[in-house]
Amino acid sequence: MYNPASPQAEEFIEHEEILAALQYAEENKANAALIDAILRRAGEGKGLSHREASVLLACGLPDRNEEILRLAKKLKEAFYGRRIVLFAPLYLSNYCVNGCVYCPYHFQNTHIPRKKLTQAEIAREVIALQDMGHKRLAIECGEDPLHNPIEYILESIDTIYNIHHKNGAIRRVNVNIAATTEENYRKLKQAGIGTYILFQETYHKESYELLHPTGPKHGYARQTEAMDRAMRGGVDDVGLGVLFGLEGHKYEFAGLLMHAEHLEAAFGVGPHTISVPRIKPADGIDPGAFSNGVPDGVFAKLIACIRLAVPCTGMIISTRENQQVRARALELGVSQISGASRTGVGGYTSNQHDTDQFDISDNRTLDEVVRWLMALGYIPSFCTACYRQGRTGDRFMELLKAGQIQNCCQPNALMTLQEFLMDYASPATRLVGEGLIAREMIEIPNQKIREATLGHLEAIRQGERDFIV
Ligand code: SAM
Repeated sequence: MYNPASPQAEEFIEHEEILAALQYAEENKANAALIDAILRRAGEGKGLSHREASVLLACGLPDRNEEILRLAKKLKEAFYGRRIVLFAPLYLSNYCVNGCVYCPYHFQNTHIPRKKLTQAEIAREVIALQDMGHKRLAIECGEDPLHNPIEYILESIDTIYNIHHKNGAIRRVNVNIAATTEENYRKLKQAGIGTYILFQETYHKESYELLHPTGPKHGYARQTEAMDRAMRGGVDDVGLGVLFGLEGHKYEFAGLLMHAEHLEAAFGVGPHTISVPRIKPADGIDPGAFSNGVPDGVFAKLIACIRLAVPCTGMIISTRENQQVRARALELGVSQISGASRTGVGGYTSNQHDTDQFDISDNRTLDEVVRWLMALGYIPSFCTACYRQGRTGDRFMELLKAGQIQNCCQPNALMTLQEFLMDYASPATRLVGEGLIAREMIEIPNQKIREATLGHLEAIRQGERDFIV
């Protein structure tokens, strides 16, 4: 029986409910009156249920589809302004005991070199990332209790936070490691992580089991209930995602939203972020072998519909996608992007690609990405303030819902951009950035905060760092 508040995977992601939602969506895909009513509700910015959002995703009326995209852009701007948060992945180890059929790190892949960074190697990678200007990382790791136990992850987080090279610092470490125990999530929280990210890969249980034939990741309940354990362990910022291409995208979309509804129902706080990865070519992996590939146009609509369904949830897109797809995604809902990423173990300090997890499609430097974002009218942000001020989980959501983001995120974004311009930007990027900061200051509504920010910006130009509003 479908029960969003249930602690059991198969009750909060109930297969029959997904099928019913998809049937309802199919039956109503040309029902203009219903679609208009759902669009009106979406316009209120309070989100949509998985059934309502599924109708929008299925909608076959061209003018209503235009309206979906228009509304997504409007909500994106209303909730997130024009700030885009930047981060980079850091691969620690590709040792893995799982058998995920889409991932080159699966244990049967004998020709991929296995590599695990030492703490000294992590320090060198972090210095390379700091030297680009990164302040926020997502650590990535295969699942291997022997090679990559939780102690290794915790030690690595400690190493990362303690490297201070020139003016550099990693101020937020998000963690994308395999599903683990409540006790381990508590340890991660104590180690000061930002978001715990775990992709469900697919919500379709039968497919999930086929795609993960062996290893601890085979367990559908272990994967699907992981965020509950994370929440109980005190990690209240969690990041969801599916790997698009494995299963039908409409099924995944409904499952993703049901997962978000479950977290709201069970813990009073939805996911902090949703990622939208699509399968990419990798060592021994051909995306063409998976029959559910999502074309670019459908991908854009998916992003827009997620934006309408969960307007308070940040959305992440990685360098799996090219510049053009990323630009469209930013317009329609994405609020965080990675830049200058390497997907191999030790990738920031070597030119070898033999441990890459997948091919990337955006190879630009961070400086180029920052300049590009500004040319598109966005404010690149290296802000990590919320989590460092304890504004996580429901406290972050309250701030967002109260419309206080503009007095908080805008100054922090501008100050971290100023730091980037001083320490890492090329002259061309710095020129554009200085103009942008001057223009954007007037968008801070509160006069006191505006004046304080002006003072901090001047202090940053004089060499001080790390101000938070
Ligand atoms: N091993 C951990 C786990 O099992 O969750 C960490 C995640 S892994 C380093 C990050 C993500 O990469 C996976 O969750 C998966 O969705 C994605 N991934 C794996 N193979 C991929 C491929 N060929 N193309 C694109 N993304 C892929």
